[in-house]
Order: sequence, then structure tokens, then C-alpha cells
Amino acid sequence: MSRYLITGANRGIGLELTRQILAQGHQVVATCRNPGEAGELNTLTNAGELQVVQCDIGKPDDIAALVESLHGSTIDVLINNAGIYGPRDAVLGNLSREPWREVMEIDLLAPMMLTQALLPFVLAGEGKHIAFLSSKMGSIADNSSGGSYMYRTAKAALNQAIKSLAMDLREQNIIALSLHPGWVRTEMGGPNGLIDTATSAAGLLNVIAEAVPSDSGQFIAYDGKRIPW
Ligand code: NDP
Repeated sequence: MSRYLITGANRGIGLELTRQILAQGHQVVATCRNPGEAGELNTLTNAGELQVVQCDIGKPDDIAALVESLHGSTIDVLINNAGIYGPRDAVLGNLSREPWREVMEIDLLAPMMLTQALLPFVLAGEGKHIAFLSSKMGSIADNSSGGSYMYRTAKAALNQAIKSLAMDLREQNIIALSLHPGWVRTEMGGPNGLIDTATSAAGLLNVIAEAVPSDSGQFIAYDGKRIPW
């Protein structure tokens, strides 16, 4: 049995990841901004063990409280899932600093600061996996349609940070992965997404489970395909 920690576990891909990991019989520390409103998450009953913990990843105090609540335990697999897209009307000509800062804060700084804070727990665990929900939209090679300035730049920067993390933690046998979940039908992905959360989560968990040290620092889609940076 392994112990996972997932951010943004109350809906979308994070909720489905939590559901599937519990069904596999593992323990999950599922974090979300408002546990009291996380109806579906709170009612998950599976073979594994679920602990729901409040954490807005953009708030340093929440990360500190999360660290405190984990005292004495370990994490085998950390999944940085929570993320935002930013305002849909933030197109060229209508870009502004504050929403861009917010996307950078939540999609880049927050997962990195959370990972730094939780690193001792991952180093103490057996699994030694740190996965990040990045996006193909962060790929510079794949950018043929332009736009999405805030989201694309935040995920591209996150990819670079993941690469450094993988290099820095190679000696400690940590496997750090940048994952693309596919275009998924969630609130962020919208109704035209190509796959459902069950397909995406199953694929992502498979990629994580099969990852070997030489995969650390790679950008991999839910179906195992490598994505060009
Ligand atoms: P959703 O919009 O459905 O869910 C986003 C999750 O992130 C929610 O649980 C939300 O919580 C949480 N979240 C947002 N801000 C914070 C915060 N400050 N602190 C804690 N949690 C927060 O998105 P998806 O499930 O579709 O996406 C999950 C990940 O996958 C994201 O990182 C996204 O960028 C990535 N991704 C998604 C794709 C898709 O097609 N859906 C494609 C490529 C990548 P709350 O309910 O409180 O807002």
C-alpha cells in the first residue's frame, strides 16, 4: 500500500485520480480549498483510506498547516494537480498584469513551493515519485495556434522547474514527471474535451506506476507518449 498526496482533489482530474487510487487500495491525502463544500470527495468510499485536508496552494500559511498535519508520516507519490487557466478573455490586446500574476502564482510558484515544503516527506517515503499536471499547451514546440498567454507561459515555466527538480533530485532516486492529462472534459477542459476523467486518470496513474529513473524530467502524456518541449 502506498500513500499519495493530491492537490485540487475536490473535482475534475484530481477527484478522479483520488477515486481510482483509493480503489487500488492505497491511502490518499486529498487536499482542496474548501473541504466543507467537497461533497463528492467526502463521500468517496473505497478500499483505500482517505484523509481530506484543507489547502489553498496559493497560501503559504495553508502549506505550512498541511506540513504540520503530516508530521511523522511519509508520502510515496505527490501529485501536484491543482491549477487554473486564467480569464478566457485574456487575449492579445486585453492582457493585464494581475490575472497573469495569479496564473503564475497558482500554476508555477504554488506547486513548486508545495513540493519544496513536502520534499522531506517524499524523501522519507518508498515511492519517491513527484508528478505535476502540466499541459501540452506549455510546449513551445507544439504551439501552432498562439494565444493562451497566461496558461502557456505558466506551464512552460513549470516544465523548466520540473526539469531542474529532476536533475537536483536524481541522486536521491526521486522521479519527477511533467504530465499532460489529455484534453479532458472537466470545468477547465470544457465539454468538447476528447476524453473523460476516468480515461485520463487511469492513463496518468499507469504512467506514474511504470516510470523508471530514466523517465525523470520527461514530459509525458496520459497515454505514455513523449511530448516535445
Ligand atoms: P478543473 O478546473 O476541473 O479543477 C481544478 C482544480 O484545481 C480544482 O480542484 C480547483 O479547486 C483546484 N484549484 C484551483 N486553484 C487552487 C488553489 N489556489 N488551491 C488549491 N486548489 C486549487 O481542472 P482539471 O481537473 O481539468 O485540471 C487539473 C490539472 O490538469 C490542472 O493543473 C490543469 O492545468 C491540467 N490540465 C487539464 C487539461 C484539461 O483538458 N482538463 C489539459 C491539460 C492540463 P476549486 O474547486 O477550489 O476551484
